[in-house]
Amino acid sequence: MSVLMIDTHIDIPWEEKTAEGLPSWEKRDQTDIAMREAERRFTIPKAEAGGLGAACLAAYTPQGPLDGVGHDAAWRRAQAMLEAMEEMVPLYVPGRAVLCRTAQEVRQTAEAGKVALVPVMENGYPLADDPSRIAHFARRYGVRYMTLTHNGHNLLADSAVTRQGPEEAYGGLSALGREVIGEMNRHGVLVDVSHASRKTMMQAVECSTVPVFASHSCVRALCDHPRNLDDGQLDALQASGGLIQITAMGPFLRRGGGGTLADFVEHVLYVIRRIGVEHVGISSDFDGGGGIEGWQDASETHHLLAALQRTGLDDAEIQAVCGGNMLRLMEKAEQKMSECQL
Ligand SMILES: [Zn+2]
Repeated sequence: MSVLMIDTHIDIPWEEKTAEGLPSWEKRDQTDIAMREAERRFTIPKAEAGGLGAACLAAYTPQGPLDGVGHDAAWRRAQAMLEAMEEMVPLYVPGRAVLCRTAQEVRQTAEAGKVALVPVMENGYPLADDPSRIAHFARRYGVRYMTLTHNGHNLLADSAVTRQGPEEAYGGLSALGREVIGEMNRHGVLVDVSHASRKTMMQAVECSTVPVFASHSCVRALCDHPRNLDDGQLDALQASGGLIQITAMGPFLRRGGGGTLADFVEHVLYVIRRIGVEHVGISSDFDGGGGIEGWQDASETHHLLAALQRTGLDDAEIQAVCGGNMLRLMEKAEQKMSECQL
């Protein structure tokens, strides 16, 4: 049985901040995307070796100041990262990877034996206070999901993790955040609630007309970390048709860190038992801090597949967890987008 494995959260290496403490927009050389021996955990040869068929690549923006200078830097950075993704395929991995905009393109690319890359965004900070930027990111770059926040509140919503300042800025979503979700629904961009506070997440479930998902989070009942989703949040995902993508981040898998592939599988099974096999998937957070014993880089993805197969899940269930659920959700977003254009 061939299984389409989709990893829903991978970063591309990039300088974090400028000397002034702003999000850095200077392009970072991406030549190593073509290397089997590279420091970065996700490269095309590693994906090929591990049987990873598709990867969501994140244009990540660290949270900075909520002023003009900060917002301008974030806006420049997100676009520079998305351009770097576009450029690296023809430059370094022609014929081996394809930048995909739809679930169907992902399927076709994987069937052709190439690695499908889906551009996404981590943090809504680059929008500043302008919801129309969603249309730009979706149309110009094919962005298919965006986390509302990263660590720290932005103009859209409260974050699960704050490094400074008050615990809440809005008590969930701001009015702007609700407007942005409407734009995301209209333009086929999934609402990603990873990094969002509990209230933000629960309000996003209500506000969005397309099911929301968490691209890289784990189960709070198994590991009490603010980035994880508790049982009430899992139930809300189930009721709305959403999805949680368990992630290979040690501290989210096991208290004190050091999570392993066995822990990862435990989190997947917990979600299946509580809300069903159609609401869970997989992600690594490679090159953003992810990587655990047994799944250290994309070349070891087959270890994860084997571990899931050993649990006794049947073929259809394996297909769903490894990528089918994510493709179904992308299709829902595409359907909503076409309804909006009628
Ligand atoms: Zn993240």
